[in-house]
Amino acid sequence: AEKKEVVKASIRGVPDFPKKGILFWDVTTILLNPTAFQYTIDLFVQQYKDQKVDVVAGFEARGLIFGAPLALALGVPFVPLRKPGKLPGPRISEEYVTEYSSDKIEMHEGAVLPGQRVVLIDDLIATGGTLNAGVNLIKKVNAEVVGAGCVIELPFLNGRSKVTGTLGDDGLFVL
Ligand code: IMP
Repeated sequence: AEKKEVVKASIRGVPDFPKKGILFWDVTTILLNPTAFQYTIDLFVQQYKDQKVDVVAGFEARGLIFGAPLALALGVPFVPLRKPGKLPGPRISEEYVTEYSSDKIEMHEGAVLPGQRVVLIDDLIATGGTLNAGVNLIKKVNAEVVGAGCVIELPFLNGRSKVTGTLGDDGLFVL
């Protein structure tokens, strides 16, 4: 509980970014504080260490920052979920609709194997569209999503229900 408070205290809200009227939750201030960064990873490890996780997958861009250290701590592979055109090898993709546009995420073929138990990591859940696309991508390769973990949740957008609708009530973990 104390770790959670340290993490929360190190997140900054930036008004009017990326455009007027939007309050952007900035996690780069967690990264400036090694204690807060370590606690963030500790809290994810605590959540997932006993869930027989085979793979951690993190969303570009900020899900990569938190996902990779989690994978190392759990001693499992890390798989980046990237925006189109970034991954060099053969890849599979999933399209999804966001608040303002349509988007796409990609993953290397063979990075996640059928039957593997996968945890998805991102910095923040808003509408849940990104996490949901990740779930669909993992399902495409016949692997299983054990859970989705985020540092921050914007509750008023109710992205939670979108994710728990497919992953169950315990499917979404927010610090
Ligand atoms: P969703 O798909 O609507 O749930 O939006 C979540 C995605 O948008 C995540 O990949 C976040 O990194 C990004 N995002 C949306 N709002 C914010 C914010 O306030 N701070 C940081 N990332 C955000």
